[in-house]
Amino acid sequence: MSKIQKPKGTLDILPSDISLWQYIENAVRETAKINGFSEIRMPTFEYTELFCRGVGDTTDVVGKEMYTFTDKDGSSLSLRPEGTAGVARSVIENGLYAGAMPLKLFYLSNFFRREKPQAGRSREFWQFGTELYGSSSPEADAQVILLADSLFKKLGLTKVTLRINSIGCPDCRPNYRKALIEYFSGYESQLCDTCKERLLKNPLRVLDCKSPICSGIAKDAPKTLEHLCEGCESHFEKLKKLLDACGVEYVVDPSIVRGLDYYTGTVFEFTVDSIGAQSTVCGGGRYDGLLSSIGGPELPAVGFGMGITRLIQALKDENLVPEFNNGCDVYIAPLGENAGLPAFILAQKLKQMGISAETDICGRSLKAQMKYADKAGASYVLVVGDDEIQQNQAELRNMNNGERTQVELTAEAIAEKVK
Ligand code: ATP
Ligand code: MG
Repeated sequence: MSKIQKPKGTLDILPSDISLWQYIENAVRETAKINGFSEIRMPTFEYTELFCRGVGDTTDVVGKEMYTFTDKDGSSLSLRPEGTAGVARSVIENGLYAGAMPLKLFYLSNFFRREKPQAGRSREFWQFGTELYGSSSPEADAQVILLADSLFKKLGLTKVTLRINSIGCPDCRPNYRKALIEYFSGYESQLCDTCKERLLKNPLRVLDCKSPICSGIAKDAPKTLEHLCEGCESHFEKLKKLLDACGVEYVVDPSIVRGLDYYTGTVFEFTVDSIGAQSTVCGGGRYDGLLSSIGGPELPAVGFGMGITRLIQALKDENLVPEFNNGCDVYIAPLGENAGLPAFILAQKLKQMGISAETDICGRSLKAQMKYADKAGASYVLVVGDDEIQQNQAELRNMNNGERTQVELTAEAIAEKVK
């Protein structure tokens, strides 16, 4: 029989990796809390229509990469490919838009896209995402950008580059669209088939095409920043001032347009060159039209999505993964037949007192137990044999420095020493 393997592009996160994941998750949660963002958890799947309308069906994410299936009642469902649309639906459905503003939400969830698996790109992946609703000010943009920046700094990363751009609003977009169509029409025969189709439907998407020919042509395309209306221009200038004032460096990068349709105005990415071709760790921007486009009230919003596996790669590349100690506090090694039960009870009592304790459940020799205790990273080892039980005393070995001390053979006395 053939072996069953995990589906292509998925990840097993093993116990040996989990401390690093939890370390990052803790940093994420602390940063979110300091910034006043509350956690939200959405369904893993939604009606497909939400993503078609919210994210846009001319995007790669929805048009090509979604895991879509028909439910038994005939409705079309999709595994969430991103978080913003689901949060927006939830904000509408639960009336969160009627509460205190700004509404600041974050999620730490898994998402699904049928992409070509490669370094930094999997079919199930994890994102830390933020969504700030109810403010259209550049200060709101700055706050979410500064939040991401502070997380990178908290983790010690130094090689992260912030890139910002503005892609204009419904007022200035039509002009820009016209300029783009004019420009790309000159190269129409060279564009990929998808972009030929996109050219009239959504020319901005051509700027985001990953095909080398299209992206080569896109390099010299008209820049959004040259087509901004007065409002968008002053918004962008203010954002730059705020970042300057907070001492956060950035590059204005007109090539950033983001892969999803809902963006308006500010867009940004944080990139790390060392992690290779998939260098964007975090991408975000403003999406003032999203809520109303899926049936909610007009409510401005800004946020980002940050890829956890890319963040992990960046930490590894900068040698910033801390040493984790996952060993138990104390290993109790029974010696001889009579010691098994007292050792078992002792370990159980210690666990109830909040001390991580282990004892032998495999019937091993003392030598084999010592080997196991060492492998398991026990901080202390206590050998319990007939003599120890009789004298109600045992020798506690500190596995880090070899120190030995006598302790009374009670959970309280041991707990006192190993805490
Ligand atoms: P890319 O241009 O790399 O495909 P994207 O524009 O599709 O990114 P977003 O939808 O904005 O990405 O998602 C935000 C972040 O989530 C990305 O910057 C990246 O760090 C991470 N991410 C996106 N897709 C994947 C994936 N398939 N595997 C791992 N991480 C991903
Ligand atoms: Mg993508």
